[in-house]
Amino acid sequence: MANVKTHIEESDVLIIGGGMAGTGATFEARHWGRDLKIVCVEKANIDRSGAVAQGLYAINCYMGMQWDENQPEDHVRYARNDLMGMVREDLGYDMARHVDSTVHMFDEWGLPMMKNEKTGRYLREGKWQIMIHGESYKPIVAEAAKKSANKIYNRIMITHLLMDDEKENRIGGAVGFNMRTGDYHVFKAKAVIVAAGGASHIFKPRAVGEGMGRTWYAPWSNGSAYALPIQVGAKMTQMENRIVLCRFKDGYGPVGAYFLHLKTYTQNANGENYEKKWYDHTKAMVGEYIDHHPTPTCLRNHAFIQEVQAGGGPIHMVTKEAFQDPHLETVGWENFLGMTVGQAVVWASQNIDPKYTNPELTTSEPYVMGSHATCSGAWVSGPEDLSPPEYFWGYNRMLTVDGLFGAGDTVGGSAHKFSSGSFTEGRLAAKAAVKYIEDKKAEGINVSDKQYKDLKEVIYKPLENYTVGRNEITGGTVSPSYISPIQGLQRLQRIMDEYVGGIATNYMTNENMLNRGLELLKWLEEDLENVGAEDYHQLMRAWELKHRTVTSQCVTEHTKFREETRWPGYYYRGDHLKLDDENWHCLTVSRRDPKTKKFTMEKVPVYHIVDEKKEKKAS
Ligand SMILES: Cc1cc2nc3c(=O)[nH]c(=O)nc-3n(C[C@H](O)[C@H](O)[C@H](O)COP(=O)(O)OP(=O)(O)OC[C@H]3O[C@@H](n4cnc5c(N)ncnc54)[C@H](O)[C@@H]3O)c2cc1C
Repeated sequence: MANVKTHIEESDVLIIGGGMAGTGATFEARHWGRDLKIVCVEKANIDRSGAVAQGLYAINCYMGMQWDENQPEDHVRYARNDLMGMVREDLGYDMARHVDSTVHMFDEWGLPMMKNEKTGRYLREGKWQIMIHGESYKPIVAEAAKKSANKIYNRIMITHLLMDDEKENRIGGAVGFNMRTGDYHVFKAKAVIVAAGGASHIFKPRAVGEGMGRTWYAPWSNGSAYALPIQVGAKMTQMENRIVLCRFKDGYGPVGAYFLHLKTYTQNANGENYEKKWYDHTKAMVGEYIDHHPTPTCLRNHAFIQEVQAGGGPIHMVTKEAFQDPHLETVGWENFLGMTVGQAVVWASQNIDPKYTNPELTTSEPYVMGSHATCSGAWVSGPEDLSPPEYFWGYNRMLTVDGLFGAGDTVGGSAHKFSSGSFTEGRLAAKAAVKYIEDKKAEGINVSDKQYKDLKEVIYKPLENYTVGRNEITGGTVSPSYISPIQGLQRLQRIMDEYVGGIATNYMTNENMLNRGLELLKWLEEDLENVGAEDYHQLMRAWELKHRTVTSQCVTEHTKFREETRWPGYYYRGDHLKLDDENWHCLTVSRRDPKTKKFTMEKVPVYHIVDEKKEKKAS
């Protein structure tokens, strides 16, 4: 590695990931930290990175408090209901009370917002969603971040966090490499905000082979948001709460605008409303939760999965009626053009015109994230004025590692933030990170040369593995001594798919399968010491795979720990096929010891702050 250049950058606030949460954090860090040095590091290019790279057609989280459309407590009730009771209400409320101000800034910055012609208010798609012409959503928020940061680094993948050598459990920065130049980058910082997005491609996707990149969540979201904190011993929560989406088949086109604005509906192959058919069955599993309004997303999935299993598929979205209205037809198509062009192409290739043919729906492979209709992620401190003592340790959105903050998909327990809520959470984390520095909590940090030099050896090892190992190949491309990142990825996806509740088993798992999955993941982890990378792009793939593997281990440990089926439709514990409020009305929290790499699990009470309903504490 002697020929690899090393660059050292010292900053006050370091933001990892320039997606929705990262741009929000970068913007807000400058607001509170006028004289601070703020650096943002992005794996792709901040102008078109993250889940919003291609644009969006709706901002899914807007209260409309100025018109009393909704208040933050309404949103807490909504998220709590959708997640079958399991949310951090302090975090949800905190995000909701600030999210409108974020959206108003987007409006000022030039994001084209649709308006209701009669009222002049933002045009609602649903109770929480407002409609935008959002193809340029990401470049607009990126501009705000670029104007705020001292420096934005593009094309650098962060692989590890640095720790302070003086004080235990305190952050010191991060390291990574530039995947174009191969240079090694060391970022020393007083506070670090991880905003590196969720995890796709840890479960085997429905589209494999040439269609492999076609997933619902961004294929480049590789779980760094989880792996980076897990590696340094930060606590995680609700990692079992993966999400399965009901989407248009093959293109994963969004259904929100169709259900909410176009008022389309689903039916089975015989034209029946199948959801009603599964009411008694679902009630026997989850009790009164099936009577909640709106029906929790996982339970609607459950009816879909059961119906297909029982032979009632394919399931269709009834578009033929709505598309007779030329306005709704336009909205239906524009919805894809603003965010999922691929769905329109798929329909064209399959001769589907939704005006004349009802398109098919499918349930996706599972994904892990903290900002959508699910809440996997880091266990963070909440805000001082709202959080009970167990949820508060000094600084809003700080993880259990001092000086390490999170936002967006990184943060667990706070579902339904979406793009606007993730940006808002980035702002909240940045404000707290600046206060952490101003309170002099980051004094005397020392990151030794040895620490980052040792990591350099580790990071570039896959290049070394390849250079040496390829000489042993006598024919073809398969090496006796290294595996390629794609081989490792496919192995990971099969383990997760077949043992941890993916599509192969119709989302079913149990303790025995999870134990076997953990064993196989351990061996994969060992073999990943021998992953080979032929160039810097493959080096990125190698590190993406390693991050996905650590994330998967955490997901599997959590899934094993929660001995109930809390979210039928997302996954099933075959050995505990019912929701069990008596024993599991609680949040799950894990920690991986950085030295032994062993996970420990605990139950933490879920506090219902809104409505102050006294819940039974978990045993
Ligand atoms: C298909 C889809 C549809 C959606 N629809 C809507 C919608 O209609 N309305 C809505 O409001 N929200 C929607 N969302 C949700 C919204 O996109 C997310 O809530 C939001 O983007 C999460 O913000 P984030 O910053 O956590 O992650 P992202 O925005 O994904 O940003 C993560 C960033 O981190 C970078 N990164 C990752 N790893 C590293 C690393 N190791 N080093 C450096 N950088 C790294 C990535 O390149 C990326 O830029 C949708 C999401 C998806 C995937």
